[in-house]
Amino acid sequence: MAACGRRCQPAREACAMSKLLLRIGLWGVQERSPRRVRQILLVNLAALGAAVVTVSYQLFYLAYGLAPFAQVVVLNGCCLAAYLLCLWLNRRGRYQLARDGLVATTSVHLYLVDLLAGIEVHLFYFTLLFMLPLLYHRQGARRLAVLGAVVLLLFVLAHFGRTPAMLPEPILRVMYVANAAGAMGMIGVIAYLFNAEIIRMENTLARNNRSLRRQSLTDELTGLMNRRSLMQFLKREWSRMQREQGSLSILMCDIDDFKSYNDHYGHPAGDQVLRRIALPLATAAQRPTDMVARYGGEEFTIVLSNTPASEALHLARRLLAEVRALQIAHAHSRAAAVVTMSVGMASTTVQAPGGFQELLQQADQALYEAKKAGRNRVAVHRRGAAEEHLSVV
Ligand code: GH3
Ligand code: MG
Ligand code: MG
Repeated sequence: MAACGRRCQPAREACAMSKLLLRIGLWGVQERSPRRVRQILLVNLAALGAAVVTVSYQLFYLAYGLAPFAQVVVLNGCCLAAYLLCLWLNRRGRYQLARDGLVATTSVHLYLVDLLAGIEVHLFYFTLLFMLPLLYHRQGARRLAVLGAVVLLLFVLAHFGRTPAMLPEPILRVMYVANAAGAMGMIGVIAYLFNAEIIRMENTLARNNRSLRRQSLTDELTGLMNRRSLMQFLKREWSRMQREQGSLSILMCDIDDFKSYNDHYGHPAGDQVLRRIALPLATAAQRPTDMVARYGGEEFTIVLSNTPASEALHLARRLLAEVRALQIAHAHSRAAAVVTMSVGMASTTVQAPGGFQELLQQADQALYEAKKAGRNRVAVHRRGAAEEHLSVV
């Protein structure tokens, strides 16, 4: 435990550090698009990084003696104010100004420091170059190329045009390494945070996609599958049935006199009935190859794969009984004193002609017959040798 505690400590600190950086980076973010959030994050972090590096140099000059570096100290003071201004501009919602201000200030600052003090801070142009595509990706390749060329030119000018340094060689070497490490470190931090942000967004996107897909296939009121998923399922099962020489039965269920139920008991009570009836239907077909869907309105469809017609008929009758057993009073039904439903059934085998749409049509036709025969019953579509006929059972 103790060993783990010690081992986990740096990880926890890194985590806390990145959280703090993210918090500062996200200053000024108020319900913005992910792209804008990334821009704000980057500008804030870069401004913060530049401010930290500048303050470090100011402290160094203070310790070393200010006199020889008076110009640079004043320049640093001004640029420090400009970096803090960029943070403030982001907080105030002036995102473009903050971004352009940061790029302009950094470009000039690095160049002038090299020119005035000969300290190789132009290594930070690498960081700036790395950031440009992230900051200006929407401005087009040409603008980006021009900006990149300007930064590269400044890098070359600063590299070859800097004045001889006023510091001893060993200190300059340390500064060179510190500048190189700082430039690379900032690139690393930005890349890390951007990658973390991309992964977070990918996860959110995947979660949203799953949820949208679920929503697009589910009926909101009853929680059953909806018509779209029924059609997809039927298409799949139809091909499977043909491959495996199986059979398919469809039960088309429709609540009797549901319009008058709504008229007398109210639409919310009607919705409640739909939810209650969905329960026995959902539990009726539980094999992975079965499916229950709300076809639309007060109609439900049950698909039964590889179920003999006699078994499907048995199930249909059981469902009628279960719906009646719910004992939902319906004083205005023509079929009974409680809510009932009618079922149209059609079955097919691989030898039968037609597609699943035809099978659906046949179940619908059978349902119509069940209604015509008085409701609260099952009608079966039968395919005879010479003609198609329906029987009400
Ligand atoms: P039948 O016995 O011939 O089926 O008569 P019916 O009144 O049930 O049939 P009809 O198709 O004329 O009416 C269906 C009614 O179902 C119309 C509408 O009021 C009701 N309905 C459809 N969808 C919903 C829904 O989501 N919620 C509620 N509460 N009622 C619905
Ligand atoms: Mg109907
Ligand atoms: Mg109805």
